[in-house]
Order: sequence, then C-alpha cells, then structure tokens
Amino acid sequence: MTKVSTTESRTKESRRLGAGPVPAVLRRSSIEPPHDCPLCSRLAAFRETNRQQHPHWFNGPVSSFGAADARLLIVGLAPGLQGANRTGRPFTGDFAGDLLYQTLSDFGFAQGRYDARPDDGLILTDCRISNAVRCVPPQNKPLPAEINTCRAFLRASIDEMPALRAIVMLGRVSHDSTIKALGLRAAQAPFAHGAETQIGRLRLFDSYHCSRYNTNTRVLTTEMFRSVFASARQYLDA
Ligand code: SF4
Repeated sequence: MTKVSTTESRTKESRRLGAGPVPAVLRRSSIEPPHDCPLCSRLAAFRETNRQQHPHWFNGPVSSFGAADARLLIVGLAPGLQGANRTGRPFTGDFAGDLLYQTLSDFGFAQGRYDARPDDGLILTDCRISNAVRCVPPQNKPLPAEINTCRAFLRASIDEMPALRAIVMLGRVSHDSTIKALGLRAAQAPFAHGAETQIGRLRLFDSYHCSRYNTNTRVLTTEMFRSVFASARQYLDA
C-alpha cells in the first residue's frame, strides 16, 4: 500500500514562496518561452546547432500540451533530441512517449490514437504535460543552472492551472524542480518511486522517468508505471 505523507496546506503560499525574479522574456511572452528563448546560453547554442543540422525539426522550447483547466499535470525532464525537440510536442516521437501515451489512454487521460506526430489528433483529457526544462539538453542532461532558470516557466504553467489537483513527476530532476516551483522544502516530499505527498488539495505522485534506459534496465517496469497512474486516477475519481 502506498504511503501518503501529508504536509500542511498552504498551496497558494507555497507558490508565492517559490516565486523568484521573473525573467523579462517570461513577462513579455505569457507563460511559454519564445522559440528563441536566450536564457540558457548552452542550450541556445545547442538549439542553433540542431537547427543547422536538422532545419525541418522543431528545434525550440517545447510548450506544455493539454488544457490549462486540467486537474492532472505531468512533469517530465526535458525534450528528447529526436522526440519532442524534433516534433514540438512533449514526449512525442520517442520511446518514452510510447509508454506514457499508452498509459494515459488506458487510464482515461487521453483520447484518440497516438501516432508519434503532433498532428495525430490525440487529445488529453483532464491532463496536461510539461517539462522541467523546455529545451533539449546535450546527452539529456540539463545543468543545475538551466533547471533553475527554466523553473520560471514551470512555475508559470502550474500557476495558470486553477483546477490542479494532482501532479505526476517523472524522475528526480522533475521532482526536485517541481517541489521548488511549489515553494516546498525537499524534506516535505522526498523522492521515491510510488511516493505520494498531500499538499492541501494537491496530491504529488512520484515515478521513475519512463525513458528507454529505465525500462530496458527494468528500473521501471510497465506495471510500476501503470501503478502510479492508477493511483492518480483513483485519487481524482474519489
Ligand atoms: S531551457 Fe527554458 S529558460 Fe533555458 S533557454 Fe530553454 S526555454 Fe529558455
């Protein structure tokens, strides 16, 4: 049985406490970064290299997918080079997306056929997907400073979800950045696969990231992943 830890409810205050200086580019551009977001110089340079090598790819910060009035938010790590960075939609076009979208469909969080293309017609139902870092990092490894910088966009995405009740955090980087975006201390919500933490009306769910590496090494099995979404479904239906 999953252990649920409960923390004193002060979601709004937590969000306020998590608020840091808002980058000028964020103030200018609503909540999503512009296609040429310059805030992380290393990622901007990598983006430029990818644009030259693959001019027909998306090659930009990947926006959240799904309606802002959803109750469930899923936070991943960052776009994959040949996944979201290529297609422009989170988790679309690589292995992680195959497992995630199949799982979302199975638990009623997605409708339609996922075909690894942003124009496949798939619709998220009461669910939204975002990433801790919006630009593809070299070797899938964002630097701490890049995670900290891009948190302004994650925080803004969270703040614009008035009905938010649950967040599934995929992997430790996602977990840590989301916790900070919510203004929580690490000790209030330690990371562990399957862990759940209640923050007022908001339930936080932890999962290992659904990357090919994690599934190939069986750090994460399909059953383990499905179990997290079964819990989120049960919580939202309660
Ligand atoms: S990772 Fe985020 S903050 Fe950094 S350049 Fe990309 S969109 Fe901007």
